[in-house]
Amino acid sequence: MPALKSNVRAADESQVSRSLPPLCGVLAAVLLIGAGASPPGEPADPPGAGASEGARPSGLHLWVDGQGRTHITDDPAGIPADARRAQDVEQIGALWGAGVVGARLETPPGASGRDEDRLVRSLRDAVADFGRGEVARAASALRAIVREAPGRPEPHFYLALLEGGRGHLEKAEGHLRTFLSLAGDDLDGWRASAEQRLARLDDERRLMDTPGAGPLRLVDLEHEAFRIQADEALVASGGSDFARTVARYLDDARGLVGERIGAFPAEPTGVVLYGKAAYLKAHAHRFSFQTVGFFDGRIHVVSKAHPAGELRTLLFHEYTHALFREQTGSDRPFWLNEGLAELYERASQRRPPLSRGERAKLNQALASGEWISLTRLAPSFGGLGNREARLAYAISTAAADWLERHSDAQQRATLLRRLGEGWSADEALREAVGLDTAGLDDALRRGLRGRM
Ligand SMILES: [Zn+2]
Repeated sequence: MPALKSNVRAADESQVSRSLPPLCGVLAAVLLIGAGASPPGEPADPPGAGASEGARPSGLHLWVDGQGRTHITDDPAGIPADARRAQDVEQIGALWGAGVVGARLETPPGASGRDEDRLVRSLRDAVADFGRGEVARAASALRAIVREAPGRPEPHFYLALLEGGRGHLEKAEGHLRTFLSLAGDDLDGWRASAEQRLARLDDERRLMDTPGAGPLRLVDLEHEAFRIQADEALVASGGSDFARTVARYLDDARGLVGERIGAFPAEPTGVVLYGKAAYLKAHAHRFSFQTVGFFDGRIHVVSKAHPAGELRTLLFHEYTHALFREQTGSDRPFWLNEGLAELYERASQRRPPLSRGERAKLNQALASGEWISLTRLAPSFGGLGNREARLAYAISTAAADWLERHSDAQQRATLLRRLGEGWSADEALREAVGLDTAGLDDALRRGLRGRM
């Protein structure tokens, strides 16, 4: 009965994605979302491109405090009223990505009937929407399929991913159980994946709900380039996979950022990973709102016991800030620091520097005169409203991208070193690209206009 052939994404995403036949261009894009390891080469539509405000997979918010520290929180009510927020789905869409499984949606040979074809098409469309970050639309399409064909297992699988991605563990579990009760032997691969996900949900729930009775116990994870400490509970639940995955993500971050900036920290970078409950217990008192990470000279992040794309993305972003601080001794110019972190976070997912939505936003800002100058953004993003903060992130990312296209890694390394030696940003930029901050701002705006 089920018409969908299974081709469940195994541990090696790149292998599966490479094996996708040409007809699955759409699904290759889907695989990018939450693909922690090696996404396929072609940049997909960034998640959320074209999604309406209401369709955003909400749940995580990025904002920056007065000291220039980036915070990520899943409790919007807890963000200080004067904080500068950036909650673009382009930035955060993949943070909680549960890993969209690239199943091949096909009408099997011999299966007949227009209804069957139409259903498969609807499913395929819904999965494509999901992959583009149009989560609300995908969810309502999948629910419609469930209503129309209640015996159909596949939509429950995707609904489980979708709910899990939003942190709705109970709902995700419900859909996984329904899926298992409906799926036949022909969906063996999916069944195995669903069972594995159920087991992982248990692990994650334990880490979320039960803070250890005693003080936080951190375990050292061995690594040459990082001083990694992890919550004992994470290591206990995640097993040896946990340490391996974290080490791999950090190596990836160090490698990519090192290649692009041409610099490496002189000393190992400190990273502390917490289960959610332990993190709250250790750090909740520091903030008047809920966070899942911050940087204070060491990278502190909440992790799942079975981390995936969300942790990888977070580590790329925070590692860039760590390197910036290490090289320059400061977080300024803020647009450069934040722009590079955004740029490398996106590069880690093979996403383009700017989404189409951001490009449109930038062009609109140019046309309306709402453009915020790099000079204004250099000391901090302070005093910006939500909308302006989103624009500030997009401008910073565009500026960092401009800088990358007009300098080589060695020049960028020198630029950061000069900042560390006390040169002004203008002097250091002039040496690197022949323009000061205002000049770069001009060139950036001319470049954007040229592409309009
Ligand atoms: Zn940041």
